[in-house]
Amino acid sequence: MKPIAVVVEHDGKRILPVTHELIHLATLLANGIHAPIVLVIPGTDQPDMAAELARLGMRTICLAITGIDGYNSGAYKTALAELFATLSPSHILVAHTATGRDFAPGLAVRLNGTAIAGVNNLLWEDGVPLFSRPIFNGAKNALIQANKTPCIAMVQPSAFLSPEVPASAPLPGPIETMEIKFSDPGIKRLGTRSADKRGDDLERATVIVSAGRGLGSRENLGAVEGFAALFPNAAMGVSRPLVDDGWMPYRFQVGITGARVSPEVYIACGISGSSQHLAGIMGSKTIVSINSDPNAAIFNHSDYCIVADILTFISAFEAIAASVNDPDR
Ligand SMILES: Cc1cc2nc3c(=O)[nH]c(=O)nc-3n(C[C@H](O)[C@H](O)[C@H](O)COP(=O)(O)OP(=O)(O)OC[C@H]3O[C@@H](n4cnc5c(N)ncnc54)[C@H](O)[C@@H]3O)c2cc1C
Repeated sequence: MKPIAVVVEHDGKRILPVTHELIHLATLLANGIHAPIVLVIPGTDQPDMAAELARLGMRTICLAITGIDGYNSGAYKTALAELFATLSPSHILVAHTATGRDFAPGLAVRLNGTAIAGVNNLLWEDGVPLFSRPIFNGAKNALIQANKTPCIAMVQPSAFLSPEVPASAPLPGPIETMEIKFSDPGIKRLGTRSADKRGDDLERATVIVSAGRGLGSRENLGAVEGFAALFPNAAMGVSRPLVDDGWMPYRFQVGITGARVSPEVYIACGISGSSQHLAGIMGSKTIVSINSDPNAAIFNHSDYCIVADILTFISAFEAIAASVNDPDR
């Protein structure tokens, strides 16, 4: 039986949380096609990470690539292609992150397989797994069946959050090491520079009020700031176009390439609900959306949907808040 391989995402020191989402999807897939799961840790030999994963009872392979210092797309593609040529997996699960997006499509080409980007759900038809991915800016989902193996599913972070903490198996899985010497990765790493610091406020806030392109103009940001100030322990966020257009610094950006947030309440103001934005907010306990388009995709993921012009709504809300707080009332 061909195995299902999970490419572990890590930062060289620790396993990143998205790996557990990949393992969750692998388990769902394995239950349907009755295949074993193999966890692959690429990079340098990582015994601590391997021990941590092997406790789940799954076979774990350390793909020790010598001659590289940290992530290197050329080396990853070559080393993984070599391993998978031997392992012959039916499915390879990779995180749809900056790293995964960098190496997975090229790896699919080398393996003469398929790559499906942005996978956000797994469905079944007559025992055949179908992967769904958002299209038309998240308004619809396409269902895709791989026509070649191996099928690399690039999995959207937050799409397969496991409801349970993964339990240790009675017996740890076997750990193997495969060493690949790499002399010419083709790409030279010059160094690492920290990105603009993420908004600490976004991490700590109980309520996040985020502004999107529906705001219309930069001058209207003040209205959303004032709206956010009405809530205790609140912070402001924005969708990516507002950062790209220079309205707000990057540390305010929420989404797959910005901050992933998990407040008690997330209020999206004039945000359409692209898959990239949703990936950053699905950990929120309650999502409230205000959008003038009744068919906006974000309403499909919201607990409260308010169809309104954002500035009109904020003015009305502020008027009510002022009357409620009026001491003479
Ligand atoms: C690789 C990649 C990574 C990305 N990463 C991110 C990311 O991390 N975060 C992110 O946000 N995006 C990200 N994006 C961009 C993403 O695809 C979308 O383009 C973006 O999220 C759209 O932002 P928006 O919802 O503010 O704008 P739009 O999609 O333009 O939506 C504006 C919304 O406002 C509504 N609206 C218009 N007027 C009003 C009004 N007067 N009152 C109320 N509502 C109104 C409209 O109906 C619409 O739904 C990424 C894209 C790529 C390709």
